[in-house]
Amino acid sequence: MTSLLVQDVRLVDANGETHGDLLVRDGVIAARGTGLRAPGVPVLAGEGRTLLPAFVDLHAHFRDPGQPEAEDIASGSQAAAKGGYTAVSVMPNTRPACDRPEVVRYVQEKAAQCAVVEVHPVGAITQDLAGEKLADLDGLAPHVWAFSDDGRGVERPDVALAAFRAAAALDRVIFPHCDYRQIADPRLSEELMAGRDLWLAERTGCRVHIAHVSSPGTLELVDWARSRGVKATCEVTPHHLCLDGDYRVNPPLCDAASRAALVTALQQGRVDAVATDHAPHSAEAKQAGAPGISSIEIAFALLFTRLVRERAISLSHLSRLMSLGPAQILGLRQGQLAVGMDGDVVLVEDAPFTVTAESLRSRGKNTPLLGETLRGRVWATVKRGRLIYLDGRFTQEGTDAH
Ligand SMILES: [Zn+2]
Repeated sequence: MTSLLVQDVRLVDANGETHGDLLVRDGVIAARGTGLRAPGVPVLAGEGRTLLPAFVDLHAHFRDPGQPEAEDIASGSQAAAKGGYTAVSVMPNTRPACDRPEVVRYVQEKAAQCAVVEVHPVGAITQDLAGEKLADLDGLAPHVWAFSDDGRGVERPDVALAAFRAAAALDRVIFPHCDYRQIADPRLSEELMAGRDLWLAERTGCRVHIAHVSSPGTLELVDWARSRGVKATCEVTPHHLCLDGDYRVNPPLCDAASRAALVTALQQGRVDAVATDHAPHSAEAKQAGAPGISSIEIAFALLFTRLVRERAISLSHLSRLMSLGPAQILGLRQGQLAVGMDGDVVLVEDAPFTVTAESLRSRGKNTPLLGETLRGRVWATVKRGRLIYLDGRFTQEGTDAH
């Protein structure tokens, strides 16, 4: 089934909202309106729920190859579908690292076999993410949209310069995790490397996408670079926008003032995407201090509860940050409910639910939100007109319901 008629929904995307129906035919949005009819096409009764373009995650960790106990491509992709995502960009800090074509081919082949969402690999910048010698960027380039040593910064300026030059020649994005280990202040550390990398982007003409911005100062640097014509984009995470406390994550959670400044930057349209930095860990690894939050399943609900319901941003604006913005960065033809776009949509309902370890499909149960009640439940996820998740069940052949 690649055609589907969804009836009686509130249709919301980055351009605004209407009420009506949406027809996906042969995987592509064919009509949007009221009273749509399509004989022979399966009908999904939306019953007044809200339909949005499916979410696109630029930044997730699926731990495959190497740590299936934390997550693998099958479990991670199901967690993504349950969270309303149909496309996920996965980071290269696997074991082995995704620093050569054999590893990226493994990820692509496994995703083709078992993933219910599209998996877009990111290649490593340096061999084994050690920050010393460039990875096989030429060999990786046909398979990846970006290069990153996410998890650590590329500290040596000569190595960073070589990476930006090579990525510019290959027309790929550098996706830096901005952090110098020698600098104890995480915000200053982020700002220093972001400033360096934005300057390298200007000097080399390379596109750059700054990962998980946690400092308002970094956003000022991005503004400055863009004002000079640098092809720079940036993302923030749900946890840096919404959570406080000392739950271990890298970069660390923000204080109230920085959090408010990041939300203000969203409102001002200075942030291109919200990305989850979904970082599942086994209970043992988390207890031993591994940084990160398992977040892809509940990212929408967290943002809907804390930002949309509190009227910090509109649902249309959240759609821009979770769908259109990241889709444009990845070069996907989705993210808007417009005729001709891919038929990737999500249906959500303003219903409360409590986050529990048992309810998470992800193998990573590491979230400070266990026991919290959120609103904004994902009811159904549709990829190219095919229902991949509906009301607690995965519907594609070959995958287990949960
Ligand atoms: Zn990172």
